Amino acid sequence: QLSKRLHCAASYIIPGMSIADIGSDHAYLPSYAVKQGKATFAVAGEIADGPFQSAKEQVEKVGLEHLIDVRKGDGLEVIEPGEVDCIIIAGMGGPLITHILQEGKSKLPGVSRLVLQPNIGAEHVRRWLLENDWKLVEEQILEEDRKIYEVLIAERGTPVEPYNQSELLMGPFLLKRKNEAFYNKWSSELKAWHNILDNLERAQTRPETEGKRQELLQKISLVEEALN
Ligand code: SAM
Repeated sequence: QLSKRLHCAASYIIPGMSIADIGSDHAYLPSYAVKQGKATFAVAGEIADGPFQSAKEQVEKVGLEHLIDVRKGDGLEVIEPGEVDCIIIAGMGGPLITHILQEGKSKLPGVSRLVLQPNIGAEHVRRWLLENDWKLVEEQILEEDRKIYEVLIAERGTPVEPYNQSELLMGPFLLKRKNEAFYNKWSSELKAWHNILDNLERAQTRPETEGKRQELLQKISLVEEALN
């Protein structure tokens, strides 16, 4: 049984696509996508030994070695240019996801869809997409086991209007149809930011904290506006 989070990510693979799941860990996502007949072929990439072994075991267990290639390596170095149609990177922080995309840029020609699931810092991912001529075509936000996850789907192109600060932070699609997970995520972020702000204000004002304070104030105002 695939988690709700990975199920959501897998649902954005267009049937017939070949995929690469980078940071695949147990290879649950490619196993599911290939078994369902959605993905024709998959690469499961892993940098770490333990997860690489568990990916291999999982693929053997489901008997899909001929359709899922488990490869060990850093980020996109495990794929050849033009080898896959869709890249999935799930369960990592936004800065790590953008680092992997940035470092692996030479592998992106031929890729038509990115499915990215940052656990935190989705803002970094949206900014990278915008700066690298990818546009969001859909976003989802969901809650599972009291954690909130965002799933970002991008294709090549530029959005009609570049994303503004609110959209970079909270997501252009997510802002248009705020669901319960959206409210829960941003109200808890707000609470945390107010706490940090209180601490900063109690401490002596120093030039290095002033920048941080201004940044927080700006984010708070964007989020408060979205929640009201
Ligand atoms: N994608 C799976 C999911 O969403 O359930 C696993 C997420 S797990 C938290 C992150 C995995 O990414 C780990 O197994 C880690 O070893 C792997 N990873 C981290 N950095 C990586 C990189 N640069 N290249 C490939 N894999 C990486």
